Amino acid sequence: MFEYIIVLINTVGVMAICTLLYGLMQRRIQNFVIRRLGLGLVLGCSGILMMAQPIVLGPGLQADARGAFIGMAAAFGGPIAAVTAGVLNGVARVIIGGSGTIAGVLVIAASGAGGLLWRYRVGKARKRIWTDWLSISILCLGPSALTLVAVASTAWRTSIFLGLVIGLVVFIFGKMLETEQRRGRRERQLTKEASTDCLTGLPNRRSLMNYARELEAERVTGVLFLMLDVDHFKKINDEFGHDAGDIVLQEIGSAIRRTVRATDFAARVGGEEFAILVHTKNADAGRLVAERFRKALQIPYGTTQLTRVSIGGFFFEQAPFNYSKGYQRADQALYASKIQGRDRVTLSLSEERDLELAS
Ligand code: GH3
Ligand code: MG
Ligand code: MG
Repeated sequence: MFEYIIVLINTVGVMAICTLLYGLMQRRIQNFVIRRLGLGLVLGCSGILMMAQPIVLGPGLQADARGAFIGMAAAFGGPIAAVTAGVLNGVARVIIGGSGTIAGVLVIAASGAGGLLWRYRVGKARKRIWTDWLSISILCLGPSALTLVAVASTAWRTSIFLGLVIGLVVFIFGKMLETEQRRGRRERQLTKEASTDCLTGLPNRRSLMNYARELEAERVTGVLFLMLDVDHFKKINDEFGHDAGDIVLQEIGSAIRRTVRATDFAARVGGEEFAILVHTKNADAGRLVAERFRKALQIPYGTTQLTRVSIGGFFFEQAPFNYSKGYQRADQALYASKIQGRDRVTLSLSEERDLELAS
């Protein structure tokens, strides 16, 4: 009886810790592969904790609620979490050893498979009802109960107890995980929306400032601050309408996304203005990048017209990157491009040496 109480307390404690960690991962980790690996790791360790405090049925024979945690990993984290949790528990069960090892490993595999089956058959439903939770309980409990009865004919009492524990885990823990999952999704969505420009899908000015703050903190050199402004954009709106102007801006955004390198950063900072931070060794290489953008942003519109952009840039060659200075100096260089006829790149290298590239 005493060991049953210990198992129950142990299970509730582990569930609480798991929910906490799951909630944290859901909110903080944007990359879904890492998030699911994390879930598999946490629930896998929980399964091992369950195995560490089992109900002992005989030498090498033990009963515990590991199936519930592995099933939950599969149900909430898909194949990645299922495999992570399953492998961890399988290895642990083999290390524990004894005559029930093979049955124990099979329980682990079957619970994971059951969780996956549930995920793809009913788990994706928007609103889960009590029968959905009952079905996952049976899928998680089934393998444990079957093997228990198979290996120890006197284990019916333990099977019923384990059934209740697993049912409790699945109903309560499942609900808690579901709440955390929903909260995490909403928070990630809000974070994404707060940093993204809704028209072009590019990062917005706030994101640019956050990225720039990191560069400032690391005192990075070799950064080219480019400002891009579409030439005579107002005419496009006036001639073809605001909606057509929006489509042109979206296409410019796509062209920027295609052109920007993974190591650099591009953002929409105003109506038809964009900023790009380019990591480059020298000004010549930076100038080539700016020219590449100028050409890439010639987007067709109307019948035969092409958009044109003016570009201004400031290069932090020796001095560490500074957002305010870069913005101001790149904007001045952009102004120079505009007054010199537009559709060109002007790079400002230092106070003394301003270099213009007309094209
Ligand atoms: P310049 O060559 O001197 O840059 O001329 P311009 O017409 O591009 O510049 P101006 O600043 O006079 O006009 C910018 C126009 O961009 C005016 C504004 O209505 C338009 N604009 C700003 N944001 C948006 C937007 O989100 N959608 C659309 N369709 N137009 C926008
Ligand atoms: Mg403008
Ligand atoms: Mg403009």
